[in-house]
Amino acid sequence: MLAGMDLGGSKIEALLMDQEGDELLCIRQPTPTGDYDATLQAIHNLHHELESHADRQLKLGIGTPGSPSPETGLMRNANSTCLNGQPLQQDLEQLLERPVRMANDADCFTLSEAVDGAASDADIVFGVIIGTGTGGGICVHGQLLLGPNAITGEWGHNPLPWPRPEELPGPACYCEKHGCIETFLSGP
Ligand SMILES: [Zn+2]
Repeated sequence: MLAGMDLGGSKIEALLMDQEGDELLCIRQPTPTGDYDATLQAIHNLHHELESHADRQLKLGIGTPGSPSPETGLMRNANSTCLNGQPLQQDLEQLLERPVRMANDADCFTLSEAVDGAASDADIVFGVIIGTGTGGGICVHGQLLLGPNAITGEWGHNPLPWPRPEELPGPACYCEKHGCIETFLSGP
């Protein structure tokens, strides 16, 4: 069996699948907004529920906003800003006492759609998530492009193209710039 989680800005979704990829159990709960320790605890509790249902130990794969810095392992660029600067993967491995695989949520989504989803017949895939933030990923011939900073395909913190005068300088963004696409185009 396989256990996976989507850590979002408003909810955490936990999924248990069999080897064929069929869904056995899906649990959703609100994300404890702005509270890093409570977020760790929520993931821990959900993982425990999946294991109880599966009646065995399960490794965990998790999609997160932002990504760990390849240099330091600390999270950055997450619109759930309480994650930024934290060693999320390390903390989860310590808490769950097992290896945890972690990747950017938009990259997970893009790879999934490119392999056996809506874009499985395309060579080059740009996957877009518009949720709490505005994320993206790029897949070429079934392989994710990561880039040196692991942010390939992220388009939410570019300026809004062709702004009208009244849209300048644009709303303040958590990334400390103004008028990012994400401040116009995300769920909030
Ligand atoms: Zn921004």
